[in-house]
Formats: sequence, structure tokens, C-alpha cells
Amino acid sequence: MDNIMRTVEMYEKAINENKLVGIKCNDCSRVMVPPRPVCRNCYGTNLSEVEVEGKGKLVTWTVIHISPPTFMDMAPYTLGIVELTNGERLTGIVNEPPENLYIGLEVEASFAENKEGASRLRWKKTE
Ligand SMILES: [Zn+2]
Repeated sequence: MDNIMRTVEMYEKAINENKLVGIKCNDCSRVMVPPRPVCRNCYGTNLSEVEVEGKGKLVTWTVIHISPPTFMDMAPYTLGIVELTNGERLTGIVNEPPENLYIGLEVEASFAENKEGASRLRWKKTE
């Protein structure tokens, strides 16, 4: 199995266990989310899986009316980009009405039932 498949599989498996994982570069200590096969900073491949805190701030969002087949039953829904506490950015569905959203809103990861892998990720407002 190639490295890209391996890292995607690692990420999906963790989400199925209600966890967010990234990859940590053992050479320069950079943490990347979602995991990738090569370090973005130093191009090293000496990487370890790490669990990351599923908390961050909303950077931007968009309301999707016409969705890919995986999310057809959900449209319209809001897709947001969240900057995690470690500075990495993750895309995911935001479980808040669009009128309640603003840039910098504090959100945390939650996980939808009846979905598999990355499509389970839901950002909700931090209580
Ligand atoms: Zn590195």
C-alpha cells in the first residue's frame, strides 16, 4: 500500500473512533492535520501518528446547496474551515445555523453517527 493510502486510512480509522489524528515529523517536530505522507516543512518521511485536540476557530465557511453524493441527504449544509489550536486547518461540516457563525467562532470536533470516515466530522460551537 502506498503512503498516501496509508495516511488516509489512518485518519479515517481514527475518526471512526471519535478521534482526530495528525502526523508529527520526527525531524522538525511539525504536526500536520490531516496526516500526510511527507512533511510539509522539511520533506522528511520520518513521521509518527499523534492525536490532536479537536478544537479551533472558524476561519471561513460556505453554505452548500448542491452536494456530492455522500452528503446529498444533508443539503443545504455549511462547510467550514477551522484553524486548530496547533495552527493546522481542517475542512468539515459545521453543525450550527449559518446566521450564528462568525470568523473566530470557537468550535470543537464532534462525530456524526451513521457515517464513515472523514464524512463523520462535525464542527460545533464550543460550549
Ligand atoms: Zn519535518
